[in-house]
Amino acid sequence: MSDKRETLGFQTEVRQLLQLMIHSLYSNKEIFLRELISNASDAADKLRFEALASPELLADDTDLGISIEVDKEKRTLSVVDNGIGMSRDELIDNLGTIAKSGTAEFLQQMTGDKQHDAHLIGQFGVGFYSTFIVADKVSVETRRAGLGNDAAVRWESEGEGEFTIEYIEREQRGTRVTLHLKEEETEFAEAMRIESLIRKYSDHIGFPVSLTAIGDEEAESKVVNSATALWTRSRADVTEDEYKEFYKHLSHDFADPLTWSHNRVEGKREYTSLLYIPGAAPFDMWNREAPRGLKLYVQRVFIMDDAEQFLPLYLRFVKGIVDSSDLPLNVSRELLQQNPDLSAMRSALTRRALDMLKKVSADKDDYQKFWGEFGQVLKEGLVEDHANKDRLAKLLRFATTHNGNDTQDQSLDDYLQRSKDDQDKIYYILAENYATAVASPHIEQLRSRGIEVLLLTDRIDAWLTDGLTEYEGKALADVAREALDMPDEDDDKAQDKVNDEHKGLLEKIQGVLSERVEAVNVSRRLVDSPACVVASDQDLNPQVRRMLEASGQELPESKPILEINIGHPLLTLLSDEADDGRFGALSNIVLDHALLAEGSPLPNPAEYVQRINEYLLNSNVGADIE
Ligand code: ADP
Repeated sequence: MSDKRETLGFQTEVRQLLQLMIHSLYSNKEIFLRELISNASDAADKLRFEALASPELLADDTDLGISIEVDKEKRTLSVVDNGIGMSRDELIDNLGTIAKSGTAEFLQQMTGDKQHDAHLIGQFGVGFYSTFIVADKVSVETRRAGLGNDAAVRWESEGEGEFTIEYIEREQRGTRVTLHLKEEETEFAEAMRIESLIRKYSDHIGFPVSLTAIGDEEAESKVVNSATALWTRSRADVTEDEYKEFYKHLSHDFADPLTWSHNRVEGKREYTSLLYIPGAAPFDMWNREAPRGLKLYVQRVFIMDDAEQFLPLYLRFVKGIVDSSDLPLNVSRELLQQNPDLSAMRSALTRRALDMLKKVSADKDDYQKFWGEFGQVLKEGLVEDHANKDRLAKLLRFATTHNGNDTQDQSLDDYLQRSKDDQDKIYYILAENYATAVASPHIEQLRSRGIEVLLLTDRIDAWLTDGLTEYEGKALADVAREALDMPDEDDDKAQDKVNDEHKGLLEKIQGVLSERVEAVNVSRRLVDSPACVVASDQDLNPQVRRMLEASGQELPESKPILEINIGHPLLTLLSDEADDGRFGALSNIVLDHALLAEGSPLPNPAEYVQRINEYLLNSNVGADIE
């Protein structure tokens, strides 16, 4: 073991984060104290957990707690814990690098605009580095529980890109973080100021937090918080602010949660849960590997972070804790998986989370906030969780032709309330984006008859409609499918009848386009557009097809059905066209435009352009194409 002091560089991301944090969080600077207290409390939790298997780790220092020392003279503030501590390697890993995956991408989204960046950093979670908002030097002295006095280490940095590390002697296990405050931040060495912050930030923590003002005449340390874990208290005794603070402690989010639900279950299985819906999505919500899940306690002893077994993946945005009286203290992830109580707890917690959302949905504005952040994730539930399909369906929101903007704020119940008496279907269209959906030829007829259409533009929607085929006894119907039964149209043979009337033209177009389309029909869904393509009922939806193809899947070839609007002047022009070349070219153009209108790529764009150019120039169209 060497006693020399080494200088190491921060990982690039840490350096960037430090800079950003100092600039963007200045108006929230006191949050550093919450972060330090959270870390200290986590460290005590971890030690208590490890001591279950190795009681000797506690030695004769069995009362876990946190003390905060302020020294006005020296302008320092220290947060001291007798928790798990860190070894040299842990210290370098934890305070020299950022292990969260996706950090580099995350940092790229920073713009330099304070408010925007502060919001993003909040989603990222600030942690230990927030100390550099108020300190120009931070020193961490720590000794891992179970290691000898001489294995203690000191880490020091001015937050400028480097830190030093050296071995020191340290009597106690655990960690002391000392902030050398910037000149203008002297207030954080004032006992009164810190006392009120401790109350705010740590009243809900299950360990005593004491405060000592060094150099003060009557310097004595006093315990400032109530030191009972928040979830063990009864709901009536916890204030809104305490719930909010506890959430911030848990999640490292610095914005308020949207809502929460605190429950004690008694009887065969006993446990307490406290679930939160965050106000905003975390930066890594789309990273499937990102940690998720609840913090698990057994009889108030912390067992693990990120216990993902208690909630399904589509509720990965829910934060919180579960404290069980029945699980064994030595429960591991593997044992948890096999525990017979787990699946019952999981369904109950899932129900709780969904109930919580149902309550939020009573307030349209609040729910809109939720939906904007997490709606796409919640939609995964329709595919994943059949048992809760009905509950989930009630929570869905859509943009529709009714609200006339791209806000997803209409429920299926709203839709049904407005639907026609004889309407037995819920119509929807899948499209790349709102503009394409709302202008789609497929919905013209429905719209002109005042029938509402859901406009589905999220990537997940194609799967959603696979999982949700009906609601309240009404089938969901894709308007881009061959058989589209419209209300007030009870004649089953309607399609055959219109086709028969225009048989000659249909056959002629089909002849020209036989390589490209399965069939040509007279459309009953078009009003203004000359044509559209629809998928036969057995075929994949074109949206889904494009996604699967983009992901590299080989799919069997399938040809769409072309539907033409027989009343459109372009079709009159086509039908009157005597020249075969021009007829062929125009037929192809009509088809290409139908594809473009629904957002599908053209199989051969160059050919299309050539055809159009020639047609515009009115030259010998179609002669050398085909
Ligand atoms: P976070 O707490 O979100 O993980 P931080 O940057 O605050 O991020 O801390 C990084 C890591 O450093 C923690 O996860 C923990 O492993 C370690 N750490 C921080 N403070 C302490 C402490 N007081 N005792 C032991 N470990 C600590």
